[in-house]
Amino acid sequence: MKFQSTRDAAAAKLSAAQVIKQGLAKDGGLFVPENIPTLTKADIEALCAMDYPARAATVLGKFLTDYTAEELLADCKAAYAPTSFVGGAAPLHKLNDTMHIMELWHGPTAAFKDMALQIMPRLLSRALVKTGEERTALILVATSGDTGKAALEGYKDIDRIKMMVFYPVDGVSTVQKLQMQTQTGSNVNVTAIKGNFDDAQTGVKKIFSDTDVAKELDKQGYFLSSANSINWGRLAPQIVYYVSAYCDLLSSGEIKYGDMINVTVPTGNFGNIFAAYLAKLMGLPIDRLVCASNKNNILTDFLKTGTYDRNRDFYLTMSPSMDILISSNLERLLYFVAGPEKTAEYMKSLAQTGAYTVDDDTRKAIANHFCGYFADEAATTATIRDTMDQYGYLIDTHTAVAVSAAAQYVNETGDKKPMVVASTASPYKFASDVYTSLYNEAPTSPLAALDELSEKTGVEITYPLRGIGERTVRFTNVVEAADMQNAMLAYLAE
Ligand SMILES: *Cc1c(COP(=O)(O)O)cnc(C)c1O
Repeated sequence: MKFQSTRDAAAAKLSAAQVIKQGLAKDGGLFVPENIPTLTKADIEALCAMDYPARAATVLGKFLTDYTAEELLADCKAAYAPTSFVGGAAPLHKLNDTMHIMELWHGPTAAFKDMALQIMPRLLSRALVKTGEERTALILVATSGDTGKAALEGYKDIDRIKMMVFYPVDGVSTVQKLQMQTQTGSNVNVTAIKGNFDDAQTGVKKIFSDTDVAKELDKQGYFLSSANSINWGRLAPQIVYYVSAYCDLLSSGEIKYGDMINVTVPTGNFGNIFAAYLAKLMGLPIDRLVCASNKNNILTDFLKTGTYDRNRDFYLTMSPSMDILISSNLERLLYFVAGPEKTAEYMKSLAQTGAYTVDDDTRKAIANHFCGYFADEAATTATIRDTMDQYGYLIDTHTAVAVSAAAQYVNETGDKKPMVVASTASPYKFASDVYTSLYNEAPTSPLAALDELSEKTGVEITYPLRGIGERTVRFTNVVEAADMQNAMLAYLAE
């Protein structure tokens, strides 16, 4: 299996190991598989008998053909070990007759990004060997909270990789800061910067584009790499849990083989829902893909009108991981429905004017699979409360956006097919907003919110967040944004 750019079908095609190492195509496009492997009935039946790591290795093996089955199984067993995913990798919780919540947050940082970031570093580590790379990869990340922690947990103690995370000193939540400051691992560093997230991101980009830095790092035996969500190594592992959910519904007798299901995904960068689309293209019986947005409903508008326009107000919401105006992975969908030439054209228009409009055929082709709904802040709050009142089930703010969108879809269409709703974070990761939504008053403090929410609901605090206030703080360094490069070199010299 080879991979090509979304913007140029004629450019040289690369192996999975090469694209995982490289990240982005040279022309600025994203890597996509040159063809889609199929999932047959026999495949799915075989997968049903397997545990999650074996399912993951089997599905990944269809795309990562330059990794051996043994390598993939070993990596998936390590990534999705029961000790990391206490509570299971992607268990389903039946909410009512139609809705099944797929809990993707049982990993080490209590958010769905663990599903990809626990395996991707292992794939990268092997990619270095497979591509003959002799240097150590230095992963630089600027984070507004969630990605940094998930990346740290994924990359810690991985061979031939070092990682450094920069976060804005006053720009992350109390829980997020503690999660990062108490990070373990011999190959990681966390540094706060004076400034906001944009300053951190700009600083990282500057380091990446500085050829003198690259030369200096090369001399020391390093090269820079990113843990970016558009890397194929982060996307491929997300296909697995949709397949796994279908198997679980078969095994529990909820469906028979061939029965169609629908899927709702709380969407930001369009990575998670695109993975569901790939599962569908592979032959998994998925009918509708419901794209759920918060108040930043640029995707809802796009799916309705065919116009993507980021020239609009940006809102900070209580589902911050979906506060996004550029959904990078949408480019991959455009490639599949409109081809590389039109995709390149649309992306050029997006870069130049902040907007593009797809042609009618493309809009219809997308509407064959996708529809979009959104939940504003009031709807999110109401959904958290209703879900608790009706079903005694505690959900986080991002999941609430999805549950609201799924309910809107069912109400509007009357479609009663089983609906798998992706739940992307533990309610305890956003305990303060969840608490306020449920009880209409603020908790004593953001940190106290965890215990107070648990006491009131009787739901146990998610494993990795327990006792977070008592852990040893390891990283307290704060630097000026202008000193990020020096901080990086100082870390390497340690
Ligand atoms: C990243 C994230 C999302 C959005 O996922 P995309 O793949 O970017 O669409 C949704 N919810 C949570 C909790 C996240 O961390």
